[in-house]
Amino acid sequence: MTYKIKFTDATEFNQALGKIVCVGRNYAEHAKELNNPIPTEPILFIKPESSVVSLNGAFAIPATDCHYECEIAVLIGETLSSASEDQVSRAIFGLGLALDLTRRELQSKLKQKAHPWEIAKSFDGACPLSDFVPIAEFSDLTALSFSLHINDALKQSGESADMLNPIIPLIAHMSQFFTLKPGDVILTGTPKGVGQLHKGDKLKFGLMDKLSLQSVAV
Ligand code: ZN
Repeated sequence: MTYKIKFTDATEFNQALGKIVCVGRNYAEHAKELNNPIPTEPILFIKPESSVVSLNGAFAIPATDCHYECEIAVLIGETLSSASEDQVSRAIFGLGLALDLTRRELQSKLKQKAHPWEIAKSFDGACPLSDFVPIAEFSDLTALSFSLHINDALKQSGESADMLNPIIPLIAHMSQFFTLKPGDVILTGTPKGVGQLHKGDKLKFGLMDKLSLQSVAV
């Protein structure tokens, strides 16, 4: 695999990445906090590549109605189509962290009407992403922990062990519907603790002892 992990600037970062395939309600405690039933099958949706921005330094958010959801992001390094779990294991290139930015009030209105979510979750800038850490640095994808602090208060703390659909089977399932290509990214769902994000908020992210970064919402 020749896929690149570190990017020299935001433009290169954007050009390197493809679509973002996401799962909703992958942690039971988060489904409960939004009064949603726990799904029997993964709820999948896509953010386009135009929603991707770099999380390094600062990122822009809508002026009102913007919720944060911190999630483990998986960078795909090889094409996957109707893949087995074995094929998925060999195709993961790296792990990082993402914000699945969501206009929650708008999403609620769309859900009430049974309309698609796209304008609430897939707008320009709706997917700030960290750089990626090579997969070889992680020994067990079912034992990952990550956290998000906002203005020095711990807001979200997640364990991949709590995922309803663990990373490898989740990606195999996604690949039954969507061919995944090198540069595509998977968002694996958010743990409980989502909430409103404000311009000026200072965010601090951690993924095990492998990735730590700070960013500001502007
Ligand atoms: Zn999410």
